[in-house]
Amino acid sequence: MRELIKKQLLFNLLSEVTKRYDYIMIQNAKIFDEITHKAMHDELTDLYNRYYFIDQLKRAIASSRRHGIYGAVLFIDLDNFKIINDTAGHKAGDTLLQLIAKKLFEVLREEDIIARFGGDEFVILIENLGKEQKKAVETLKIIADKLLESINYGHIVNRKIYHITASIGIALFNNNSITVSDILRYADSAMYEAKKKGKSQIIFFNPKIEEKLQKRVLMETSIRQGIEGKEFFLVFQPQVDFTGKIIGAEALVRWNNREQGIIPPAQFIPFAEETKMIIKIGEWLLHEACKTLIRWQKNPTTKGLKLSINCSLIEFMEPDFDTKVIETVKQHNVDPSLLTLEITESLLVQNNSAVKKAIRTLREFGISIALDDFGTGYSSLSYLKNFPINILKIDRVFIRDIFLDHSDQALVRAIFSVAQDFGIDVVVEGVEKAEQEMTLRAIGGEHFLVQGFLYGKPMGFEQFEHILEDC
Ligand code: C2E
Ligand code: CA
Ligand code: CA
Repeated sequence: MRELIKKQLLFNLLSEVTKRYDYIMIQNAKIFDEITHKAMHDELTDLYNRYYFIDQLKRAIASSRRHGIYGAVLFIDLDNFKIINDTAGHKAGDTLLQLIAKKLFEVLREEDIIARFGGDEFVILIENLGKEQKKAVETLKIIADKLLESINYGHIVNRKIYHITASIGIALFNNNSITVSDILRYADSAMYEAKKKGKSQIIFFNPKIEEKLQKRVLMETSIRQGIEGKEFFLVFQPQVDFTGKIIGAEALVRWNNREQGIIPPAQFIPFAEETKMIIKIGEWLLHEACKTLIRWQKNPTTKGLKLSINCSLIEFMEPDFDTKVIETVKQHNVDPSLLTLEITESLLVQNNSAVKKAIRTLREFGISIALDDFGTGYSSLSYLKNFPINILKIDRVFIRDIFLDHSDQALVRAIFSVAQDFGIDVVVEGVEKAEQEMTLRAIGGEHFLVQGFLYGKPMGFEQFEHILEDC
């Protein structure tokens, strides 16, 4: 009897242990599944992540090489997501990304692989597109159109409708010796071309894009080397008041490239913006400007002179731009009221609250903000009301024929008057002739500064100090 009870007890114990063991096994398997899922998926959208995608792309390239069957990578980037994210808030932005991820997923076949690489960048791998390139392209066009259609839709978040468009870049692969990083770069640069063409575009990668891409990469390297090799330098153009006294200068960048000689900014700044190298140039520029201001303060002839520098939209859009500028100015111990940052309308047109905040922070610190090239863009005077700008630079398009053209005169008169009402200083650019100056004086009296070839072309540091001594 005792033996029986013993056996029964042992059996109970064992089955309990087994049950627990099963439970632990099930739990472990669950945890294991969860970990595997997390390792392969993007947390926000539950699409695959970059690591899994790259792994699959490696396999797909090898398989397509073996069988000579086309595959493709599609790079999708939302066109106006950043603005929505900044204005509606990150939570709404996240919800929107989840909705779009779902839409994209629904368009694709089960065997297609879709991933989010971060931000608003979605990447798709499509295999088994046949052995004929033409057919593969046709199929991809149909798929890409469907994808665009699924995105270009009024998505509802928090009872608000958001209209989103996207740009798609496509790169094909089959039995060539392409690598994973090549194909991703190709699809990315095709997407970049699509973006440049406007909204809702689909572009297939081709050798011309490759050429442009290489040019861009080359330019990037060469700008980087240029900064390291001190090939960039500044020239200074005087800014003059109504008495003819130089009160400061605008610093303009020049590049003395070791192979091509002097390259004007119009040729390299667009590239520098595209590659974001403008941020590096801008950092260098700010340090140089601060050093110049310190040097000017030590010399009685240059003491009190102001210096303006140009800031690109790309630099200003960097999240810590204002903090970095303030830190640099503090580091050099420069009086901030002597420094002006020139920005263009393209920065203000988006009405971005972060930009507004950055301008305000810089202004509160004492740095001046000038709206440059006024007259070349939307030319809306409402910017003066909406942004804490304290200088307006009238572009030379209004000045060229001002002594002949009555409508230019009326426009400039109106700008002077509005600026005065807002307590904003005006700098008139591109004054080349005495007639222009005379007309301006008749319109604006003494309430503006002038800059232009009539008073001095942009010149080297020594020459600029030299003309000041002669004044
Ligand atoms: P901007 O800021 O409007 O600079 C004025 C440009 O007009 C300069 O050309 C200057 O040489 C030219 N200019 C000045 N007075 C006259 C005049 O009386 N007549 C004529 N026809 N032109 C005049 P530059 O130096 O070639 O600069 C071109 C543009 O490149 C600048 O336009 C600015 O947008 C950009 N840039 C120059 N330096 C920098 C920089 O350091 N950073 C950034 N982000 N952009 C810069
Ligand atoms: Ca400027
Ligand atoms: Ca200008």
